[in-house]
Amino acid sequence: MKKLRLTKQFTFDMAHALPLYQGKCRNIHGHTYKLHVTVQAVGEPGPDGMVLDFSAIKQIVEQQIVLPFDHALVLPRKQDSATDAPDSLGGYAAKLILLPFQPTTENLLFHFAELLEGKLPDGVQLYSLKLYETETSCAELLLM
Ligand SMILES: [Zn+2]
Repeated sequence: MKKLRLTKQFTFDMAHALPLYQGKCRNIHGHTYKLHVTVQAVGEPGPDGMVLDFSAIKQIVEQQIVLPFDHALVLPRKQDSATDAPDSLGGYAAKLILLPFQPTTENLLFHFAELLEGKLPDGVQLYSLKLYETETSCAELLLM
């Protein structure tokens, strides 16, 4: 059976720290992430030869992921913290995102999939998300 998939690539810069990791990634550092969003067509291309406009994926992914996470500092929320923003690092982390998990590439993929759930246009389903942390290291989450 033939299946048609479309992929759009996104890039954003993000800082994070992995305090549960016993290594240098415990410290705040940054990556230029590359995110590949792949959707699978539900049916055949329409009369215009498309299953969807790439700009539709672009708009949704930028709104849900790229704009919030680009140039943000992403940290796990401390379990014993009573507030969402216990520390803005002296004002240097105005765009601070605290998540209920360690922000590894793997965990971010599950989070990004949740952010896109139910947001994609008719005619396609989210097939996979692939997140490159470096040029040579990536994780892929298959959703179908
Ligand atoms: Zn890292």
